[in-house]
Amino acid sequence: MISFYIFLLLFLLSWAISFLPQIRVYLPEGKFHSFKILYTAGASFLCFCFLQCSQEEGESSMVWKGVAVHEFVHQKQQRWLSPLLFGLFYFGEWLFRKCILRQGWMTAYENLIWEKQAERARFAYLQSGKNRFI
Ligand SMILES: [Zn+2]
Repeated sequence: MISFYIFLLLFLLSWAISFLPQIRVYLPEGKFHSFKILYTAGASFLCFCFLQCSQEEGESSMVWKGVAVHEFVHQKQQRWLSPLLFGLFYFGEWLFRKCILRQGWMTAYENLIWEKQAERARFAYLQSGKNRFI
């Protein structure tokens, strides 16, 4: 029974953290010191947005701000569903596309409804030239 309460506490805590404002963590070349930990341009976890660029690049370039907009959509998706359910739906859909629909790794990823929604927001940001999302 105690493990259920620990699970519930962590579940609610992670959900609450996803409602904090986006915190950008800059990892040039995806590295934290000498450890390579980021293999994509950006990644989102709770309120943290990890970007594969320096802080200077991230703050001056629209391309990197666009990636941050994309990642913020993933943060909003976690706010709607909770980080746990979002993760289950996200990877569940990817597994369905990969194993049942027999799509390739990248095709399955690019076709995820979660990624399409985030990409629409990034393109809208790049077209408008303004940050309407954060
Ligand atoms: Zn994404």
